Order: sequence, then C-alpha cells, then structure tokens
Amino acid sequence: MSITLFEKSQTGRTGINIPKQSVADAPTLDSAFLRATKASLPEVSEFDVVRHFTQLSNKNFSIDANFYPLGSCTMKYNPKVQERVAGLDGLANLHPHHITNNQTDSMQGSLKSLKVLEDNLCEVTGMQAFTMTPQAGAHGEMLGIMMIGAYHKKKGNNKRYVIVPDSSHGTNPATAAMVDYDVITVKSGPNGDMDLEAFKEAMSDEVAAVMMTVPNTLGLFNPQIKKICDIAHSYDALMYYDGANMNAILGVLRPGDIGFDVIHLNLHKTFATPHGGGGPGAGPVGVGERLQEFLPDLQVGFSEDVGYFLKEPSEGSIGKISPFFGNYMVLVKALVYMQTLGKEGMINVSKKAVLNANYVLARLRGHYDVPFDTLCMHECVLSADSLTKEHGVRAMDIAKYLLDFGLHAPTVYFPLIVKESIMIEPTETENIDTIDYFCDKMIDASNLARSNPEAFKEYPKTLPICRPDETKAARSLNIRWQ
Ligand SMILES: *Cc1c(COP(=O)(O)O)cnc(C)c1O
Repeated sequence: MSITLFEKSQTGRTGINIPKQSVADAPTLDSAFLRATKASLPEVSEFDVVRHFTQLSNKNFSIDANFYPLGSCTMKYNPKVQERVAGLDGLANLHPHHITNNQTDSMQGSLKSLKVLEDNLCEVTGMQAFTMTPQAGAHGEMLGIMMIGAYHKKKGNNKRYVIVPDSSHGTNPATAAMVDYDVITVKSGPNGDMDLEAFKEAMSDEVAAVMMTVPNTLGLFNPQIKKICDIAHSYDALMYYDGANMNAILGVLRPGDIGFDVIHLNLHKTFATPHGGGGPGAGPVGVGERLQEFLPDLQVGFSEDVGYFLKEPSEGSIGKISPFFGNYMVLVKALVYMQTLGKEGMINVSKKAVLNANYVLARLRGHYDVPFDTLCMHECVLSADSLTKEHGVRAMDIAKYLLDFGLHAPTVYFPLIVKESIMIEPTETENIDTIDYFCDKMIDASNLARSNPEAFKEYPKTLPICRPDETKAARSLNIRWQ
C-alpha cells in the first residue's frame, strides 16, 4: 500500500469534473497574487482519497477498536452519551465572555452544571470545595502545591521540602520542584509501601507537604496512610493526594475523611473523557478546610434569590490559573458520567477495576515475576527480569510481541523502581473474554521467551514501522515526505 497520496497520483486523474460553463469567467485576482506555477498536488479520484484516509485511520490504535492496558493511564471505554450531551448547543456554543461580562442570568444552566459537579466531587472525595479550572493532572498538582505554599506563607512557616515516596508518579516530584521546593524522596519498604521509619526520619518542621500517589505506581494501597497523615500534620505539613487514578477507590474511600488536605482528579482518566494524543483534559482540585481560602478564581455560588452566580475571589486566593473555567466540555462529560452511574454505579467502577487487575495478576503469576506479590488495586506490576536474565528477552520484547495480536502494550519500564517492569491496567470496562485473550497472549510470550527467545527479534511483523530507534524518533523526528 502506498503511504502517501502523492504516490497514488496519476497525471490527469481528478475527483470532480466541472462542466464547461456558459457564463464568462469571473475576473481573476491581480497577477501579483497569482502563483506562477501550478500547485503540486496529487492527482487522484475522490474514491482514491476516501480509501486512502480510511486505511490510514484503521492504523490508528484506539480504545474504541482494541484493548489498551496502558498502566497508570486508565484507557477505558468512554460511553458516547457524554459526548452527545457535551455537544448540546446551549452548552457547546456558550461564549466564554458571558463569564467576563458576568452575564450570569443567561448561563444559569452552565453554572448549575459546574456547581452540581463540584458537589458531586466533594461527595466522592470528602473534600470541602473544588476548583474546576486546572486543565490536566499535572496542572492540578501545581495548583495544589502553590496553595500549600500560600498556606505556609500566611502562617509564617519556614518550609523548604516536599516529601515524595519513590513509588509516586513522576509528575509529583516534578511539580514540587517547579514550585521551588526541594524534593526528599523516601524509599519503598519490602512490601512496596513507603517505608514508615524512613518517612519519620525525613519528616521535620521544614517539610511543607507530603505528596502521595494513591494507589502508588505499584498499584498498591498503603494501609498506613492515616498514620502518615497524622504524622505530617503534627509538623504542620499538608497532605497531597494524587487522585489521577480515582477509579481504584471510587465510592469506597474518601481521601478527605482520612486527613488529606488537597487532591487532584484526572477527569480524563476516571471520569470518562477520551484521552491520549494530548488532551483536552481536566484536573480539578479539591481542598479541605486549611486550603479553602486559597482557591483560585472562579468559583460558582448559589442563593435562592439570585440563583447561580460567580463568587468574588477570597482575599487569600492565589488568582487565576486558567482562562475562564478551563476545559468546560470535559467537566460536562464528567458530570453526565457521574449522574448516569449514580452511587451504585460508581462503587461498581472501583470494584470491577480492582477485580480485573487482580484477575490479570492471578493468571500471569508464575509466567512473569511479581515483585510485590500481594492483592493489587486497579493495576498490577509484573517484571520480565527473570526472562531477561535467563533468556535475554526484555520487557520491550514482550511489548512488541503483543502488537501483532491487536493489543496495545502495557506500560513498560515504569515504575522506575522495578527492573524490566510491565504495568498492566485492564480497567473496569473490559469483559472477561478480552482480558482472557490478553492474558493468553502474555502467557504465549512468556512461553516463547523460554523456548525460542531469538524469535522476538522479528516482532512486530504486521505494523508499518516495527522497531524504530525510539530515542532518535523522539529527538530527531523527521515526518517530511520527499
Ligand atoms: C496521569 C497521571 C498524572 C498526570 O496527569 P496529566 O493529566 O497527564 O497531567 C499524575 N499522576 C498520576 C498518578 C497519573 O496517572
């Protein structure tokens, strides 16, 4: 198959023939604006074009077409009803300057959608208030740590450090560093949780915050988490909950109830906005009592006499972090998702996410190393370390093998604290047939590694590009057609 339309081009072939007209040609543009030579365009029929782009689109990998167990990313199926509602005229075509001009009487429905979503998110997280404005998880993290900074500044606290377990998501230490804190990394203990003794040692009056990814990137929930919150608070350090992967605990545990001061959620992971390819997303941030006064500008209020309105920012507000309400369509989708599921449905989300991940773990145990072998939450982390040492087959080889069977590879080489790691998140939306198919292929790969490791060099066999130099592809990408 030709890769570009230019290769299909045949001189004189056209899509549409316009019949000779009986009226005179319209006067042309001034010759200064006319090109001297004809544009070099492919000469193809309409059908050539349709077939070309349809075939190209089939080369895209998407959750609507195939299983996508990319750990930490929650590539789950997003029902279409959310898209339908978010596309409604009154929501999609509302002009942002209604907000600037405070024309709240003509946007009551939209303001209500924001307020109801805020109430829902408070309900499931146990926080006191939410800002909807951050446009990604990492953006929410930055806001959270900025508010913690404002809290300490107001109290005259002298704080320099943010504690981060080594099993956190990489954005956590990056965020702390961006907001000018020094990062203290605390190592994991033998069971995969942050080592409590090492944590106590790292704690001091100079610690501003403890950032925890929950469950951590090993897919584990730390049973000591309440104790960690209490210790941190005894030093007036605040607790940050990275709730990007809320599908692990939705409806089961409320971070606010165990003492977290701030949380961000990834609506584009847990709350049903399709993602990948760079957005748009939303990372709303919820706060407890200590941080409420620092929330950024725009919060929606409600009173019986005026209806929904835009609150005046509080004196301590850190200001604006997004234009308008951020990615409003993503917020609408999250609201519809929560309203269609209801309480029962949301509890089912986390039950199924955890069940599916543990099922994968149970089926693959014995075929791969399990570095921290205990019940997992919404994802499990395996390792190809033994296969590498004994047969020279690496996590990357397993990942490439799967591609030929219509499967997206799991996350590999992350988390960093596991050698040859393979991080699998089946998500709650997959049925047992799909998960079994994936596990069968993972087991086939492990068997092949033991019987014929050389065979891996050939995989994937069916894709247009099979084993690119990934560093070069990232650093010196050339997508020009010559
Ligand atoms: C995805 C993710 C993030 C970052 O979210 P973005 O929207 O990509 O910025 C942060 N923490 C965890 C645990 C994540 O899985």
